[in-house]
Order: sequence, then structure tokens, then C-alpha cells
Amino acid sequence: MPELPEVETIACGLRPQLTGRRIVSVSVRNEGTVQGDAAAFARCVPGRVIAGVGRRGKLLLMELASPDGPDGTNGPDATGGGAGGAVEPRSAGMGATAPTDAADLMACRDASGRVAGAGSTGATGAGGVGGNRVPHLLGVHLKMTGRLFVYGPEVAPNTHTRVVFGLDDGNRLFFDDARKFGYVRALSDADLATWDFWRSLGPEPLEIAAPDFAVLFRGRRGRIKALLLDQTVIAGIGNIYADESLFRASIRPDAQAGELSPDRLRVLHGHLVDVLRESIAECGSSIRDYRDAHGDAGAFQNRFRVYGRSGQPCVACGRILTTGKVAGRTTVYCEHCQKPK
Ligand SMILES: [Zn+2]
Repeated sequence: MPELPEVETIACGLRPQLTGRRIVSVSVRNEGTVQGDAAAFARCVPGRVIAGVGRRGKLLLMELASPDGPDGTNGPDATGGGAGGAVEPRSAGMGATAPTDAADLMACRDASGRVAGAGSTGATGAGGVGGNRVPHLLGVHLKMTGRLFVYGPEVAPNTHTRVVFGLDDGNRLFFDDARKFGYVRALSDADLATWDFWRSLGPEPLEIAAPDFAVLFRGRRGRIKALLLDQTVIAGIGNIYADESLFRASIRPDAQAGELSPDRLRVLHGHLVDVLRESIAECGSSIRDYRDAHGDAGAFQNRFRVYGRSGQPCVACGRILTTGKVAGRTTVYCEHCQKPK
């Protein structure tokens, strides 16, 4: 699964291709790929302008804006959630075209019940679904095999293409996902306030200060690697960068987190930041399917010191690396160089 550096690399690659582009159509080819209010997604995303491309943890984010400028905000009185109507059955190739004028965009706002028009009760909007609100963010989780590419209009969707976003320059953004674990999700401010995954995400490792990082683990039960992988403790870290940062910090992955001193945790933070920054500079690590937004492989895998080096000698001491399981994940470490306390 792409971790923080890979998603950051993909976001950087997509940013110049997508920023300022208006989404003119959305075609959902696999309904399970759209999380949340699927009908609102197909109806309310078209017409929005991609104002920026970023990342939170392993989630790629596209900031959505009105073509006319800043949005009005959804007030706290906005009623929620799409409960007013069933999501219509979707078939492969189902599409929605862009709202072409302000009235259509207003229809997205109608479900707040505050604007008359396509169903002021919020029970049935223009698409037969209530609860639509203007999305301010588009979240894409790539999971195992998700990929985002911008193609020219001559490129047809393939069997793994789950969602197609038509852009106002004639290009199209494909979300391809062979194994279908990934998802896209349109997010209004109200959705962000109620989406448990979003609300529970831990701090960003490249933004948190070392002393605050150490505090995350103070008194915590559990092994340090398990907590590094826990997205509610700290966001964006997966198997690669957990193993690599723990090796550099000379900490065994199965060490009890609560027994590590603040000094050692601050050291771990420094190495974690280094490893993430080095990987971003190398355009991420390419194992299995990962490619950046241009289809290029990253190169950080050439710098792995422990990940994937099972049975090979430690780069520091020459002893054979140990392979085990921590938090259910294959874990490679050096019994000599890495200490439990
Ligand atoms: Zn060693």
C-alpha cells in the first residue's frame, strides 16, 4: 500500500495537471468505489474546480472550489447525511454530467433545507436523493492497487478503471484499482465533521515536533511498531517506513512503546522524518504496483536497510537479519543492532 511518501509523490505529480481544472463530468464504473453518499458524489462533484492537490496521512486530497470563487459555507443548521432517500442502483458506465449553471450548483446545496428549489424538505433532491451538500474536498484512498492518472481524451477506460473524471481541458482523470480496495469520497465540511476515519487520524509525522511525538507513546501499551502503523496514533506510516525508521533508531520493532525513554522516541522521530523526506526526494518506494502520477517508479527501495531484506546481512554489523511478525505484519530487524529498551 502506498505510504506517506508515495501519496505525497503522486499528489506532487498530479498538482500541475489538475490545479485549476474544472470537473465537467463524473462516470462511476464501480459503485463500490464511491464511499459515502454516492448519488451526491455523481451529482455534486461535476462543476467543481480543483483548487489544490494535497495529502492527509495516506489519503490523497483534492480541494474543490466553486468556479465563481470561494464557496458559501454550510451552516451548522445543515441537516445531514443522505438519509432522506435511497441511493439509486448504479450500473457500470453510469454517468453524470456537470451542472451547467448556478441553479444546478444550488441544487447541491438544497438538501440543507435552506434553499428553495429541488426539494426544500431535503427529502428528494433533483437526483432523487436528499442530504447533498457542496463538497469541499475529494478524498482518494489508493489502498493496495489504486492509481490516479490523467489521460488525453483518446485513451479509453480499461477493465480496472473505477471512476472517470472529465476535465474542462478535454483530459480525463482515471481512478484505476485492480483489487477494488481503494475508494473515492466527496466531503463537505459536515461530512468531515462526522467521518470517523478523518476525525481519528493522528498527527502528521512531518509536522509534529519531536517532544510531541514522544508524548504520543507515553504510557501506551503495545509494541512500538504496532503503534507506528496505527493511523489514529500517527498518520501515513506503513510497514516500510516503520521498519526502516526503527532500524535507524536502533529500536526493536517489538519493543514496548511505553518503556522507551523520551530521548529514544525523539531519536526515532528524527529518523522517521529523515526516512520520509529521503523517500519523497526519491519519488517514493516502488514495490509491486506503485507508480507515481507520470507512471514512473520511485527509487527509495534501493535504499532499504531492512525492509524486504529478510535473510540478508545487516548493513551495520553484518549479522543475518531476523524476520518475524509484529502487529500481524512481516517485520525485518537486526537482533544485534536494535534494542528493546
Ligand atoms: Zn546489525
